[in-house]
Amino acid sequence: YAERFAGQLVLVTGAGSGIGRATSFAFAEAGACVIAVDRDAEAAGRTAELSRLVGAPDAWAETADVSDEQAMEKLAARVAAEYGVVDVLVNNAGIGLSGSFLDTSTEDWRKVLDVNLWGVIHGCRLFAQQMVDRGQGGHIVNTASAAAYQPSRALPAYSTSKAAVLMLSECLRAELSAHDIGVTAICPGLVNTNITATARFAGVSDSEQERLRARSSRLYRIRNYPPEKVADAVLGAVLRNAAVVPVTPEARGAQLLAR
Ligand code: NAD
Repeated sequence: YAERFAGQLVLVTGAGSGIGRATSFAFAEAGACVIAVDRDAEAAGRTAELSRLVGAPDAWAETADVSDEQAMEKLAARVAAEYGVVDVLVNNAGIGLSGSFLDTSTEDWRKVLDVNLWGVIHGCRLFAQQMVDRGQGGHIVNTASAAAYQPSRALPAYSTSKAAVLMLSECLRAELSAHDIGVTAICPGLVNTNITATARFAGVSDSEQERLRARSSRLYRIRNYPPEKVADAVLGAVLRNAAVVPVTPEARGAQLLAR
């Protein structure tokens, strides 16, 4: 996608690791200026620095927790004042939560919905308004998951958060097309990232958490689907204004079954 995003400003949340980091680099290589947002300041800083090295005319790091509405309002105001209106927004920050419905506490539900759903709502609301006010269109990409359309006993809270992101994306797409703003839901299957290192397992002790994390990390490593391929799908989806994009073979299979 050399130079296909030259002159554009792209903001990626969850840019410190995995899919968000790979997506930041892909936009940078395609000539965009990148704003790397993460709750982990150091990780965001590293992504911004490397984005410049791989081709972004400029790149900046911003620290924010996407689930914190006030922090997101401040971020949106800072971005508009310092860098301008973003052309592409990638709401990608997310966390994992496994465990049956009966094992999942209210607190765990809140945590996963706060980040995975409310984080996307805040991002869409604040930055879509800026795009609409500017009147020059734009694009929003929300990272959902194949879990959004694939029911699973193991992931009720996570899947619910992602199904909501998928539906939100489709509703927004219908509303914002009048403003020339495209909206895409990206739906990856298993991708080899750090998500398993921070994911929580509902209803198990702390010592069990580590064992289960190690087991799922192994599974993700064995599948070994690289985040760079998801990033590639993100850029392609923006260029052709795709609505819902399953990425990885199992995500495409699950989408066919869900139809
Ligand atoms: P990752 O853990 O490697 O990266 C996630 C990044 O988001 C981290 O840098 C983390 O610090 C940041 N983050 C987490 N919570 C945040 C918050 N509240 N505010 C700001 N930043 C926050 O994971 P990943 O696999 O790259 O995940 C990215 C997205 O892809 C998530 O939405 C995830 O649900 C989705 N996804 C991942 C997979 C997979 O198999 N890895 C599959 C489908 C969907």
